[in-house]
Amino acid sequence: MLSVTVLLAAAMAGCAKPPSQNDHFASGPLAFQDQTITGSVRQSASARLQQPMPDRIVSHGALAGRTLEVATTADIILKPGEVILTFDDGPRAGKTPAILDALDAHGVKATFLMLGSAASANPKLAQMVAQRGHSVGSHTYSHVDLNTLSRQAALDEIARGEAAVAEALAGAGQGLSPFFRFPYLSQSGYLRTSLLQGDVVVLDVDIDSKDYYREPGAVVAARTLDRLEARGSGIILFHDIHQRTVDMLPGFLDELAARGYSVVRLAPRHDGIFSRSVITAQASAGIGS
Ligand SMILES: [Zn+2]
Repeated sequence: MLSVTVLLAAAMAGCAKPPSQNDHFASGPLAFQDQTITGSVRQSASARLQQPMPDRIVSHGALAGRTLEVATTADIILKPGEVILTFDDGPRAGKTPAILDALDAHGVKATFLMLGSAASANPKLAQMVAQRGHSVGSHTYSHVDLNTLSRQAALDEIARGEAAVAEALAGAGQGLSPFFRFPYLSQSGYLRTSLLQGDVVVLDVDIDSKDYYREPGAVVAARTLDRLEARGSGIILFHDIHQRTVDMLPGFLDELAARGYSVVRLAPRHDGIFSRSVITAQASAGIGS
């Protein structure tokens, strides 16, 4: 018990983000390990790249795993060797289409957590993502740290993001999935509870690729594989707005296949409209205040 407390304290001390309620993030060993790996990532990654890679298995579609239909966050349970690919902050011209091509080449499906502002600016790209079989959720309208807003303003920002992504998708008859990710993974108990009670599936992160670092794509791939190997399965966070992510994805997917992983397609259990109004109603009632 004491050791867990120490590990958590050590992990959070070096973390600019508020404490996460994510069980995976809160698990002491992983959080601690992430901190230590981050400090020596360049050395670790380059060392790995100098090692002989396993023979590549060129077998398109071999990566595709099962479809996991979920109604709540608690339904997202992965088996060893299973990963869920998520891409945040898009869609973005010149990047998102290349990400889609790489996913198609391996026959796998991902989940895109789009910003309302980006979807509104690029509705055709948002539609393309959905039309090519990927799940599309939301990530607020303008990527603010929701913990810096009042409760009502935070819920309004989330609802505005959902509405904008839904409107962009509707232009092609596509629907928004009830998946949501907190910007900066910054959440509060109140917001998380409000979303979960409003039938929103909050997507946590098990493996952060940190593809927002100014590093070559190969370094991002090596780090992500290292963390996946240490964990064995998990939800991987990428961003479909960076060229390095575009650059590293084909090789990364090759490597996943070579190592025997499978990519799980995440889908909502219930098709159709989910109850955004529930969130607004809860906010008005001041639940948890
Ligand atoms: Zn983001």
